[in-house]
Amino acid sequence: MKNVKARYLFLAATGIAMVACREPATGKEHPPSHHAASITPAKAHNVALYQFAGTPPAMAALIQKGIMTKLKVAVQLMQGQPLPAMSFYKPRNRYIADSLLVYLRGQRPAACEKIIGLTTRDISTRKGEIENWGVLGLGSCPGTACVISSFRGGKGKVSESIFNRRMITLALHELGHTYGLPHCPDPVCLMIDAKGKMNLDEGESYCAKCKNKLLAQGVVTK
Ligand SMILES: [Zn+2]
Ligand SMILES: [Zn+2]
Repeated sequence: MKNVKARYLFLAATGIAMVACREPATGKEHPPSHHAASITPAKAHNVALYQFAGTPPAMAALIQKGIMTKLKVAVQLMQGQPLPAMSFYKPRNRYIADSLLVYLRGQRPAACEKIIGLTTRDISTRKGEIENWGVLGLGSCPGTACVISSFRGGKGKVSESIFNRRMITLALHELGHTYGLPHCPDPVCLMIDAKGKMNLDEGESYCAKCKNKLLAQGVVTK
């Protein structure tokens, strides 16, 4: 588990490992062609939004729309199961985000290049010496899975519109990690490091540098 964890937050210098993505079978089979190997079909960017049981449907719909407004991806909603018991950390009544990523990878439909899990429960990860550190979200960098939690989003403490915007920014931040974006030093970029604080109100867009990395993968338009 410890080896696996190192991959989540630190950027691999070797570039982006894209996951092969296939459209679901349509039933219509094309005959084998000698040219088949040279044809590269336009790649569809599908993202699955996995709603762990208990997630308000309105929140999922809001995040779905928010992601599709900023990224050139199609987000499909998935009604999920309860959070897996194996991920539960009883002493703090939290779920280990790293463990949830392992679970989510197993739920990703073949047609989706990424899966983002959504929960209202508290989630945590290891941070340096701190074994169990509560977080808003966690994403593999680069990778196929990320997870976000509304637990620390300030629901009821800030206006509904601020809370909603935070959740969308959070989703874009963690998805950004899966597309290989590390934390960004630009203070108005949504990829800025939270460093344990709530900083989702600082920026709601990717900076030009981060956007260029997404552009290269075809998940944003100019
Ligand atoms: Zn981050
Ligand atoms: Zn940036």
